[in-house]
Amino acid sequence: MPIVVERVSHIYMEGTPMAKVALRDVSLTIEDGEFVGLIGHTGSGKSTLVQHFNGLLMPTSGRVYVDGVDLTDKHTSLRAIRQKVGMVFQYPEHQLFGETVFEDVAFGPRNAGLEEREVEARVKEALEMVGLDYSALKDHSPFELSGGQKRRVAIAGVLAMKPAVLILDEPTAGLDPEGSADILSKIQALHGAGKVTVIMVTHSMEDVARMSTRLVVMEQGGIVFDGAPREVFTQVELLKEMGLGVPQVTELMHELKGKGLPVQTNILTLEEAEAELVRVLELKRHGTV
Ligand code: ADP
Repeated sequence: MPIVVERVSHIYMEGTPMAKVALRDVSLTIEDGEFVGLIGHTGSGKSTLVQHFNGLLMPTSGRVYVDGVDLTDKHTSLRAIRQKVGMVFQYPEHQLFGETVFEDVAFGPRNAGLEEREVEARVKEALEMVGLDYSALKDHSPFELSGGQKRRVAIAGVLAMKPAVLILDEPTAGLDPEGSADILSKIQALHGAGKVTVIMVTHSMEDVARMSTRLVVMEQGGIVFDGAPREVFTQVELLKEMGLGVPQVTELMHELKGKGLPVQTNILTLEEAEAELVRVLELKRHGTV
C-alpha cells in the first residue's frame, strides 16, 4: 500500500485574510513495511501532511496516491482508503464514546458492515495487540480505565479495521514513562510482525532513533531531511538550529569527541554507545590511541 505524495501544497482558509500556507510543494513516497518517524517543530506541517495520507485533508495543489489510487479524484472512495490507512490522532482517548470497551472497538468493523462474529474476532485481536485482556475489560466502561489503557483502547479501535498503514500522531503525549514505553513496544511489535507500515509523528529523538527505519524532518511546511536516522542525526548543528537536536546519547558522543576522545559519533542508542566506549577505552589501555 505505497503512499505517494506529489508536489502537494496545502493552504488553510485559502482566499481569506486568514490564509495560512501549511505545506509547500511536498513530495515523498512511503513504501510498504517502512517505519517512518516524522519530526519537526510545532507548526511545521506534520499533522497537515499525515492527514493527506488518508484523504482527511485534500491538497490545495498536487496529488496523493494510495496504492495507485488518486485521492484527489472525486470518484475515489475515501471510506475504503480510510480502512486501509488508519489514523490515531493526538489524545485519541478524547474520542472514546462507547458504553463498553467492546462497543468502542467494535464501532469501525460494524460500520464497515462485518458480521457480528467477525466483529468480535476483530475486537478480541485488536485488544490483544495493544496488550489489553479481552475478557477482563470488554464489558468495562472505557471511562473507568487509566489514561494509558484508554489510549490503548482508542488505538485498538483503529487496529480493528486491520489497516495496512498505521499513522500515529504523538502516540505517547501525556503518558507517564512506563505507559509510553508500553505503547511504543506494542507499536514496534506490530511493525516487527510485518503486518503494517507505521508513520509516527513524535517529538522524541530517542524514539525515532530506536524505532524508525526512516526519518523525515519538516520545517515550515517542507521536508528538510529524509533518510535513515543514522544519516539524519549526523546533521547535529542544523538540527539544533531548527530547535530539534539529536538523541542525548548521540550528543554525548559528539561532546566526547570534541574533548579529544576518538569515538565514532554516529551512535543512536545506549547499547551502541556502551560498545563504542568499551572499544575506545580498550584501545587507550593498549596505548593504541
Ligand atoms: P504540526 O503538526 O507540525 O504542529 P500543523 O500541520 O498542525 O503542524 O500546522 C501547520 C501550520 O498550519 C501551522 O502554522 C498551523 O498554525 C496551521 N494550521 C493547522 N491547522 C489549521 C487549521 N485548521 N486552520 C488554520 N491553520 C491551521
